[in-house]
Amino acid sequence: MELTINKTENLKSRPDDDKLGFGSLFTDYMFNMDYNPEEGWFNPRIEAYQAFQMDPATMVLHYGQAVFEGLKAFRNEAGAISLFRARDNFKRLNRSSRALCIPESDENFVYDALRQLLTVEKEWVPHSPGTSLYIRPTIIATDPFLGVRASHTYRFFIILSPVGAYYAEGFNPVKIWVSKTHVRAVRGGLGENKAAANYAASLYAGEQAHKNGYTQVLWLDGVEQKYVEEIGAMNIFFVINDELITPMLNGSILPGITRDSVMQLGRHWGMTVTERQISIDEVFDAHKAGTLQEAFGTGTAAVISPVGELKYDDQVITIGEGQVGAVSQKLYDALTDIQYRRVEDPFGWVEEV
Ligand SMILES: *Cc1c(COP(=O)(O)O)cnc(C)c1O
Repeated sequence: MELTINKTENLKSRPDDDKLGFGSLFTDYMFNMDYNPEEGWFNPRIEAYQAFQMDPATMVLHYGQAVFEGLKAFRNEAGAISLFRARDNFKRLNRSSRALCIPESDENFVYDALRQLLTVEKEWVPHSPGTSLYIRPTIIATDPFLGVRASHTYRFFIILSPVGAYYAEGFNPVKIWVSKTHVRAVRGGLGENKAAANYAASLYAGEQAHKNGYTQVLWLDGVEQKYVEEIGAMNIFFVINDELITPMLNGSILPGITRDSVMQLGRHWGMTVTERQISIDEVFDAHKAGTLQEAFGTGTAAVISPVGELKYDDQVITIGEGQVGAVSQKLYDALTDIQYRRVEDPFGWVEEV
């Protein structure tokens, strides 16, 4: 398959680095590729960022057959651009695709297409500390049809959005609301896949948390509503008695690339890192016993998001006196140092574009 590049004269003016938020500005170009059963994936192209025209009956609009990824490109101090574990994102995209009956794509091909898109758009990778270019690969079902079945045709696209420093106002712990009424996903469902539908399921509880002055929801398992699964759209870790603990992958937890990186770093430093079931009662008991040292979320957007307060029912606990813990800080520094190539990368995670 040959990737074509269609140049446009119609270029936007680039925003100042200090005006970047998250996810509302997009670059000049995008990647598009289509699928039908006769040709497989075809017509891969880099072309002007543009709106889609869709039939109102397009299947993704009705039944949510869509998967996506989220990753970042970073500019280092010398000006070079690199990706962090990007191949893992395309591997996970294929895993998500399989779960939603979407045809798989060639991981090497789309990885190379992304690199070419970034080469065309390299001026869009911002320079200021903490900024990056957020990358959103997405696949949507495109048959115009109202019957319920998997679509026969698809669109694969990648868009790019320059984003500001996540912690522009400082690396501060957030307040988390444990939902007793809502669950994000259940075993046997879509929870372990990056499916758009999971986000639709998370919105109501998220709004409830916000209305009560909390930043994110801590999700419990969908079967017993007893075991900790994730916070917001992040994986979760606890430091209890100097041990790094995260819920084991059980089918309803998203296997985060940041989660995996944190576990590898912890082990590299000689920490005990454990993946196991952990109940919300155990977390509150550890706090009572004085052994709960830290809690934090992990994900591409925030990297590490320290938790300062947890509310479950009528119990509210403050973790680490509401300050950023030593392990959270060390992990955040280590991961961002590798991403921005301020230090050697002993894991082979970064690849220059
Ligand atoms: C994307 C995502 C994460 C984090 O994954 P990363 O690969 O670390 O960015 C965690 N939980 C959910 C539900 C997600 O969608």
